[in-house]
Amino acid sequence: MRVRTVTALALLATAVLAPDPALAAPPGKSPVAVGYGGAVATVDADATRIALDVLRDGGNAVDAAVAAAAALGVTEPFSAGVGGGGFLVYYDARHRTVHTLDGRETAPAATTETAFVNPATGKPYAFDEARVSGLSVGVPGTPQTWETALERWGTTDLDDALLPAARLADRGFVVDQTFADQVAANRAVFAQFDSTSSLYLRGGQPPAVGSVFRNPDLARTYRLLARDGADALYRGALAGDIARAVQHPPLATSPATPWPYPVRPGTLRRSDLDAYAVHQPAPTHVTYRGLDVYGMATPSSGGSTTGEALNILAGSDLAHLPGTLALHRYLEASALAFADRNRYVGDRTARPLLDELLNPDFAAERACRIDPARALPKPVAPGVPDGTYGGCAAAPVGEPNIQDLGTTNLTVADRWGNVVEYTLTIEATGGSGIVVPGRGFLLNNELTDFNFAPTQGGAPDPNLPGPGRRPRSSMAPTIVLSHGRPLLATGSPGGSTIITTVLQVLVNRLDLGMGLPEAIDAPRATQRNTASVQAEPGFPTAGLAALGHVFTANPEIGAATGVEFLRDGRVQAVAERSRRGGGAAAVVRPWPA
Ligand code: GLU
Repeated sequence: MRVRTVTALALLATAVLAPDPALAAPPGKSPVAVGYGGAVATVDADATRIALDVLRDGGNAVDAAVAAAAALGVTEPFSAGVGGGGFLVYYDARHRTVHTLDGRETAPAATTETAFVNPATGKPYAFDEARVSGLSVGVPGTPQTWETALERWGTTDLDDALLPAARLADRGFVVDQTFADQVAANRAVFAQFDSTSSLYLRGGQPPAVGSVFRNPDLARTYRLLARDGADALYRGALAGDIARAVQHPPLATSPATPWPYPVRPGTLRRSDLDAYAVHQPAPTHVTYRGLDVYGMATPSSGGSTTGEALNILAGSDLAHLPGTLALHRYLEASALAFADRNRYVGDRTARPLLDELLNPDFAAERACRIDPARALPKPVAPGVPDGTYGGCAAAPVGEPNIQDLGTTNLTVADRWGNVVEYTLTIEATGGSGIVVPGRGFLLNNELTDFNFAPTQGGAPDPNLPGPGRRPRSSMAPTIVLSHGRPLLATGSPGGSTIITTVLQVLVNRLDLGMGLPEAIDAPRATQRNTASVQAEPGFPTAGLAALGHVFTANPEIGAATGVEFLRDGRVQAVAERSRRGGGAAAVVRPWPA
């Protein structure tokens, strides 16, 4: 327990120090770092520093990833935290195996298929009406994900992993522009709840950029989890508080900003929390350009959709096509894979069907739909993954195009070559808007990832709400192996654009001649089987428009992180250069030991 000793000593030391002068400015951050001894990439400098300290003190990638995730719960509370869920993919260097954890939020036992249909009108709620309510709150999966990851693969326990973040919450951190903007964007939502406005809208205003933000309630919550384990949230004192906040949202009596909808209570009970279990499904797997690509199985559609799109692209020699034609295929493969995702993928998708969606012969059939010189009219129909391939099936399908930003991604590699790729979320930026009174964390609105009403015409919808169900996700933490050893890992937030961001990073890196920093930095475009493609400024639209692709502007898509193991033995950590204010990449040592 070397990590514990160091952490405890550090805690003792800081307890007697005057306020840290370093808090006068946000810690510096760099989007790329190359070196040895382990690597970390997150969106936040404090989280990266905390994970790096764990690696330096002898912890492994899992210890560091959990410590970083807990720190993100402090500094990125609108994207991540113990009130949410996520998916973790782990490469175990000693056994050369890949494992996953499904820490997705789960619908309470009383959830019905029409949970998001207004009984008064018979119509689905507006998204914001559903979001800002107790109805949208699923049983959080994050605390049990952290505990399970540490128990299975870590060298430390929750106690050690949470203390640096607890200290960060107590001492505070410097508010940056992203944090202030996220509060400002949520002003009306946060104003509806006493517990939320007293934390984030002190004096009625978002915290000023450059000010120090402290969250002692969250520090206490972390210390409770450190002492009692995740049980504190699923069975202990926190369980009652969560159930109460969902069933009786802590409404402000006279909110400073109005909200156009009633805030509806949810049904989540202590028994729902008690019943929660992290799942450990086998990862999805495809081979692409001779590499093994591992991702997240259901209830995320991340692994199956990126995997299917890669399979579709496997038959095209993208590296030798003119750039426009390569990107054309990237967009078309993505649209086809999304059609199949929307039709077939949800929490209860049977594994054989998921495997069929990843069958290279199915992909070959889907690839025959692509016209090399012309964009297909969208939406494209789903295929028929029935085990008999050769023709092209047809049946129209479409889905609303929702993008959220309330998620974060982190990547950690350690000196032994273990890798964690972890995407965690509370769904919308700011989740349901409900801070659990006295506990300092926001509850998710993950249940709005269910389809509110059937989307598949006469065909069954794979993503309707139900008791104990997990809403379909798009989170796509991905690890790529070469001959059984890690080559790279990446993931991103961004709702359903996560899938295309991960796919595009892989295509950029593996086909289009880019290094990982360029692959992550390059302008993005997302085609999710919709009439138009959303593209960031700088994405080369002209040639593609001539092929029939229709573009709409999206200022920013995703916020990826990644690592790559370079041929010369160094490891490269990569975060965003500018998206979401830029991320923080670091390595343990820039030089060999
Ligand atoms: N709730 C989304 C999902 O699970 C993620 C939201 C986001 O990335 O912002 O796919």
